[in-house]
Amino acid sequence: MEETEIQKQINMLRELQQLDSETQRIRTERRQFEGELNELQADFDRIQVMADQLTREMETLEAERRELDQALVQERENVEKAEDRLPSIKTQKEYVAVLKEVDTAKKLTKEIEDRITQKNAEINAVEGDKQEKDAELAAQTERMSERKNALEKAMSEYDSALTDYKDARKKLLDKIPASLRRRYQMLLDRRGTAVVEVRQGTCLGCNMQLPPQVFNKLHRGDEVETCPHCNRLVYLEQTAT
Ligand SMILES: [Zn+2]
Repeated sequence: MEETEIQKQINMLRELQQLDSETQRIRTERRQFEGELNELQADFDRIQVMADQLTREMETLEAERRELDQALVQERENVEKAEDRLPSIKTQKEYVAVLKEVDTAKKLTKEIEDRITQKNAEINAVEGDKQEKDAELAAQTERMSERKNALEKAMSEYDSALTDYKDARKKLLDKIPASLRRRYQMLLDRRGTAVVEVRQGTCLGCNMQLPPQVFNKLHRGDEVETCPHCNRLVYLEQTAT
């Protein structure tokens, strides 16, 4: 049996609906993939910021230790210079004064040594944190490079599928009468589905029974019928007739 004009229109609407639901599915999946990609990048950036912070801390601590090292050299020289003067001293008073000088310089030396020990401990702690962060960064880089390629490949496939659907949709729309196109779009926006099957007299869009007169008109197939309960465009499967 040859397809009537109404059957053709219904079939085009069904095809259109199929395209639209595929498009929707692909857009949703694409968004999820995009979200995952952004999350990976955000994790990487977050670790990078912490690693940079630790690098700056290390630089500061090392500069402080260099200053302490210089101060230590200076103070040791002061001890030596003072001690060198001792043999040539003539008076008891001067001798006591230089001894005191030596003593003070030795105390300062000890203080600086203690501060260097403490600074080294700080440097070691930050160094440990930094190594941990660098390892995290390397792991994240590896995770990203694996996943990123797959995600980007999938997204470009989605994009080309979406372009194909868009073209196919346009071709279909050109063949569907304008009034039907508008009804379809309105129903799709409001109800999510626009074209539904009627099976055993029941609209599968709203699961309500069609009134007999509508059901009879649907069988005659003179025009595209509408479910009086949900307003969706309805059809009978061709094999059922
Ligand atoms: Zn209905």
